[in-house]
Amino acid sequence: MIRVRIYNEFLHERNNEKVAKVYPDGIHNCIKGFLESDDIKVDTVTLDDVEEGLSEEKLHETDVLIWWGHMAHARVPDEVARRVQTEVLKGMGMVFLHSGHHSKPFRLLMGTTCNLTWREDGDFERVWVVKPAHPIARGLGRYIYLEGEECYGEPFDVPEPDETVLIGGFEGGEVFRSGLCYRRGNGKIFYFQPGHESFPTYWNPDVQTVIRNAVYWAKGDYRADKLEAPQVKKPGHGEDTHA
Ligand code: ZN
Repeated sequence: MIRVRIYNEFLHERNNEKVAKVYPDGIHNCIKGFLESDDIKVDTVTLDDVEEGLSEEKLHETDVLIWWGHMAHARVPDEVARRVQTEVLKGMGMVFLHSGHHSKPFRLLMGTTCNLTWREDGDFERVWVVKPAHPIARGLGRYIYLEGEECYGEPFDVPEPDETVLIGGFEGGEVFRSGLCYRRGNGKIFYFQPGHESFPTYWNPDVQTVIRNAVYWAKGDYRADKLEAPQVKKPGHGEDTHA
């Protein structure tokens, strides 16, 4: 059983009628709806309960954390962001969605500004599969077609990814590295660009496939208890560590 926790700030859906029509129960519940299955259990957290919902204890019980945030990145306490970073370094998997590129934990884990260029004209997007053999691309065709999305463009100020699985191409001609894999410490991180709140992106079956695949991919098999470097004795001198 994979234990997934979804953080969604849940503000646009409550403050904007247009967004509320697309996601009446919030983006987190849309994602929970298609993810939950016999082998995936999902809990959700919003900005209102971010302190308790992403406590050390709750993060310990999380295999993969999914993050959607946009207008309230600054209201996520630094301490929570550090806790998330620590847990990834120990081995928790993480999926950052859309505007999560500017969230505190993503910036901590990347170490760069994570800035990108953007415009919101409702352009179509083709999300091209550039690594068809990658587990996150399983079940996709050559590309995912999205009738309307916010345009995110390069340069995207992130470190060189370990793997680029998807590249978005927009109606205006811009391109963007839309599906990126990283390892930080023992943890795996996937960044996935589509998902602007006013478009029904998370209802798209191919987008759902990517997020589901990303959960299976990001779930680690190893979780360190703590991050402190241990002081050890010289092997073979009274302490056989392999015994
Ligand atoms: Zn957006």
